[in-house]
Amino acid sequence: MSKQEDQFKKVLSHAKEYGYVFQSSEIYDGLSAVYDYAQNGVELKKNIREYWWQAMVQMHENIVGIDAAILMHPTTWKASGHVDAFNDPLIDNKDSKKRYRADVLIEDYCAKIEGKINKEVSKAKKRFGDAFNKEEFISTNGRVVGYQEKINSILTRMGKSLENEDLADVKLLIEELEIADPLTGSRNWTDVKQFNLMFGTKLGASAETAMDLYLRPETAQGIFVNFLNVQKTGRMKIPFGIAQTGKAFRNEIVARQFIFRMREFEQMEMQFFVKPGTQKTWYEQWKETRLKWHLSLGMGAENYRFHDHDKLAHYADAAADIEFNFPFGFKELEGIHSRTDFDLKAHEEFSGKKLHYFDPQENKSYVPYVVETSIGLDRMFLAVFSNSLQEEALENGTTRTVLKLPAVLAPYKAAILPLVKKDGLPEVARQIMDDLKWDFNVFYDEKDAVGKRYRRQDAAGTPFCITIDHDTLVDNSVTIRHRDTMDQKRVAISDLKEIIKKEVAIKTWLQKM
Ligand code: ATP
Repeated sequence: MSKQEDQFKKVLSHAKEYGYVFQSSEIYDGLSAVYDYAQNGVELKKNIREYWWQAMVQMHENIVGIDAAILMHPTTWKASGHVDAFNDPLIDNKDSKKRYRADVLIEDYCAKIEGKINKEVSKAKKRFGDAFNKEEFISTNGRVVGYQEKINSILTRMGKSLENEDLADVKLLIEELEIADPLTGSRNWTDVKQFNLMFGTKLGASAETAMDLYLRPETAQGIFVNFLNVQKTGRMKIPFGIAQTGKAFRNEIVARQFIFRMREFEQMEMQFFVKPGTQKTWYEQWKETRLKWHLSLGMGAENYRFHDHDKLAHYADAAADIEFNFPFGFKELEGIHSRTDFDLKAHEEFSGKKLHYFDPQENKSYVPYVVETSIGLDRMFLAVFSNSLQEEALENGTTRTVLKLPAVLAPYKAAILPLVKKDGLPEVARQIMDDLKWDFNVFYDEKDAVGKRYRRQDAAGTPFCITIDHDTLVDNSVTIRHRDTMDQKRVAISDLKEIIKKEVAIKTWLQKM
């Protein structure tokens, strides 16, 4: 097993063992690519959502939020293009009967070539030591340049073929590259077909009158159809944004990789309405702002990169992903798309209602252009969780498992631990708990030796442990232990609130943006 696979396995089992994520309907052997968030997971997820919401809505006076329904009028999806074009190219292996996304097979092939590039880079880094210049090496080393050209030519060809609906060429490409079924090694492929990802459902009691609906595959359309309502009632002036978080559903062809690709997931999206012609500037600005938001969490700048799209969706004039270094390599975490006026124009056409904005400065009305930022909450959860899970070698020769979640996102901010279950210590601990719980989510634990309880909180991701001992009864002080450094300090009970607040407040973290 590779180191990466090993780490991913640890992430999966840790998420279950520590009450973060469970397989949905597990007692019935689960439902594929559907997951439930458990007692700790729901808190982490809520905290990520809140961190996003404050950064996007509270900190921008020209961005407001909505919460649109999951069920929408079916014409919405005709207008948006999802009925006709929300497809993935799928291919089956005739021997293994396994189904794959043709584009993903090709992208994974390219990722392998990229692995070779990375190997060359680390070899050269060792050889040249401090004098090593990565950019120069990548642009001049013959072998690396060759690899990169190969990747570019494959992705460009795939992008063009998909855009032109030339599925035969996508299959040809798979054959030419001799891509085999990753599970069995077989190269006996069917033709490539398109598959619509929307889940259908019905509204109404009787079969004859029932209306065919879709579960929304993205939250964005709920924003577009409400654009004029919000603009008018909120007296919003362009440029302005509408943000929303909520469930989306996609009947993904291949749904592996845990909560990275789910059939029911949550998105956090913001549509920013701008004057036509200014979209490029806003697109660049939102790319930068969103990256800064990610970096504010301190999960390592080297773990993020932009990927500009070669193949643009039917609605976009520019698009980029923020990719994160997941346990299975760099993959899309967030998309930033310049969506032009495609959606609003389409809804005008299909609804017959005008969706124009009157610009008082220009003294004319127009259909605004849109720049979208769209991040998967579950993917962000996986990024945070997998990046935080670490095995640490300790000085005494043992190891500890520690979940170094950014403190602002941690489910519990502090654990309250009476040293022993007697002598009045639990009573004092309860008093501290009752006081702190007005401000923070805190956890009480009096079972087992305190060292064992520390380890449990390390693994659960709690940033602080507060221990109440016999001295506490004398001088009203406690020991506060820091998860990451394991440093222990004696502090007054009355100072606890400020100490914790300083490290867990959203403000402290967002100010790093
Ligand atoms: P992918 O190429 O991985 O299928 P996408 O480009 O279709 O993703 P978008 O339509 O741009 O994704 O959706 C925006 C965000 O929603 C993505 O960046 C991702 O974080 C999240 N997302 C999309 N599909 C899923 C899914 N099936 N499970 C979890 N999150 C998802």
